[in-house]
Amino acid sequence: MVWSKEGFLTPEVDVNACINCGACVKACPAQPGHQQKQQSTALETPSAYGGWHAEEDTHLASSSGGIFTALADEVFAAGGCVFGVVWANKDTARFSKAENKEELAAMRGSKYTQAIPGMVYREVRAELKKGRRVLFCGTACQVYALRQYLRKDYENLLLVDILCHGVPSRNLLLGYIREWERQEGKAIERIRFRDKATDWQNYQVTKIFTDGSTISHCNKEDMFIRLFIGDLALNQACYACPHARFPRAGDITLGDFWGNLQHLHPDWPIRKGIGSLLTNTDKGKRILKSLEESGQIHLHPEPVENLLQGQRTTYLRQAPVPAKRESTLKRLNTEPIPRLYRELCQRVQCGPFLIRKNGLIHRAYNRLRRMKNQLMSKVSRPVS
Ligand SMILES: Cc1cc2nc3c(=O)[nH]c(=O)nc-3n(C[C@H](O)[C@H](O)[C@H](O)COP(=O)(O)OP(=O)(O)OC[C@H]3O[C@@H](n4cnc5c(N)ncnc54)[C@H](O)[C@@H]3O)c2cc1C
Repeated sequence: MVWSKEGFLTPEVDVNACINCGACVKACPAQPGHQQKQQSTALETPSAYGGWHAEEDTHLASSSGGIFTALADEVFAAGGCVFGVVWANKDTARFSKAENKEELAAMRGSKYTQAIPGMVYREVRAELKKGRRVLFCGTACQVYALRQYLRKDYENLLLVDILCHGVPSRNLLLGYIREWERQEGKAIERIRFRDKATDWQNYQVTKIFTDGSTISHCNKEDMFIRLFIGDLALNQACYACPHARFPRAGDITLGDFWGNLQHLHPDWPIRKGIGSLLTNTDKGKRILKSLEESGQIHLHPEPVENLLQGQRTTYLRQAPVPAKRESTLKRLNTEPIPRLYRELCQRVQCGPFLIRKNGLIHRAYNRLRRMKNQLMSKVSRPVS
């Protein structure tokens, strides 16, 4: 897998070594028209929950409810190992294996970049063949790819897929790091994308510099998050993701509970983060239930519709490819991120002019447009 010019991991075939067996095409989760085959054990209807870890430190260190750590601890207790994503350095994430709680700590937290799989699928199979319990956590396409690679269900394997907005180009992350290092005149050591220091719903992106200093920005004002969430720089395959659907790829699906919690459940620890959980197989259901019974997690059944609320990406996401995607990806290689941010996230086209989004002129323009539409609908209403 090599980084393409657009900043995505792309397969490159060594034609001299290739024996044309087609195994890579069969396993590739991004193959056009590739429909997700159901797990033989998939439940017809998943059970949905809101949940969070009972231990405060773990809860706060995780991106949402911290349920991933509870699942991992369960697997460690049975002598198993966990595969998940860690930072290899400040701009690269990769899959890794954890044998204990200490090694697991680096897996916590969402890394908003495409993780390098390396030899992880092969390593998972080797551990399964030894008879060990294994937890694998990644995006739905990665979980699907693992299942395709293994070609059979293993009772000792727990698959967890995370809800995924899509992966942004690595060039966005590189440009963002370059910009902050230039502005501050010092090197970044690590970025924490989901810092809950102030509040989970208004999470911050925290840049940690090599001298120990930090700078944080609320996600709504952060250049990286706005360009990422604005869908302008996602991997082509993500816009028509065949895995953002029911049944999901994993035994369990983990995400953020972005629904209107202040209204639905004001008594939940909202500021610390609430996970949205789906159990897609009996195995997944059994494990979550046992974690709840042993007091390690809080689990509350919830209608699936409540979990879908507020998700820009849904479980069934098919997003249109924005007209500016291609040009944005090209510009990421040559232009500074603040310029792209200003133009693409802070300005909107208003007739022939580019004006400040939600500024005075934009608000007045929208108001006039609404008035015009109301007037037009009155004029065109048939006379009874
Ligand atoms: C690129 C990306 C987009 C996401 N988009 C959404 C979304 O639109 N809606 C939503 O509800 N949730 C989304 N999530 C998931 C969410 O942020 C949490 O990861 C999830 O709720 C689990 O949280 P937790 O507190 O249980 O565990 P945490 O400890 O925070 O979870 C960490 C787990 O996520 C995995 N992980 C981290 N980064 C990556 C990566 N780059 N690739 C693959 N796996 C990774 C790790 O292996 C680890 O197992 C996204 C996550 C990522 C990485």
